[in-house]
Amino acid sequence: MSIDSLVHIFYNAQYRPVFTARFSGKVRRAQRPESPKAIVNDNQYIPKKVLRLNVGYLLAEGPGRNRVNELDIPSTIRVAEDLTLDFLRGTVAMSRTSRGILVQATLETRLLAECDRCLADAPVPLAIPIEEMYVYPPEPGAEFSIDDSGIMDLAPLIREEVLLALPKHLLCEPECKGLCKECGANLNDGPCECDAEPIDPRFAALKAFRDQLNSQETHAQRKN
Ligand SMILES: [Zn+2]
Ligand SMILES: [Zn+2]
Repeated sequence: MSIDSLVHIFYNAQYRPVFTARFSGKVRRAQRPESPKAIVNDNQYIPKKVLRLNVGYLLAEGPGRNRVNELDIPSTIRVAEDLTLDFLRGTVAMSRTSRGILVQATLETRLLAECDRCLADAPVPLAIPIEEMYVYPPEPGAEFSIDDSGIMDLAPLIREEVLLALPKHLLCEPECKGLCKECGANLNDGPCECDAEPIDPRFAALKAFRDQLNSQETHAQRKN
């Protein structure tokens, strides 16, 4: 087998899906237990196996050798069960060291998430810096490693970095007005009927209390 046939980093045209898929669920945060719910089938995504790179040739070449590869996945890729990206591209540098392979990259991608306030689509463009040692041979406690198959799987690393790069609040736009707490209307589309209500019951109670205080004061002043 030639060395070139072992390199699978380039996106393969056969995976190009018919249309760009979207998903509707909340995006999972590193600290959140929920996963987003996909609304398309698995076969409409580019499979994450395109992120499994055979680096056996680089391991064999020994420390000091390196490779630079362009990663260009132009449409929706399912990086993990709970994470789907709109596209993924960037330059990936791989350096063979005595410990394994050091991967360095800045990947551009976009996450299709829901707005935290109004639940509308909130695409999140992200630039993900990556610098990680894939240990070879595997050592106990190493988070990322390469076994004797020579396969380096970038998917778990990319998932981790995307979750770390997510903003604290995902908003469709910075000034999103969110949903009305009473009727659920999207307030970005205009005010809802609730604004026209005569008076909030809580304010009515406050007003009654204030009126009572006022009358007591007046009463006390009269006494003096
Ligand atoms: Zn919004
Ligand atoms: Zn309302």
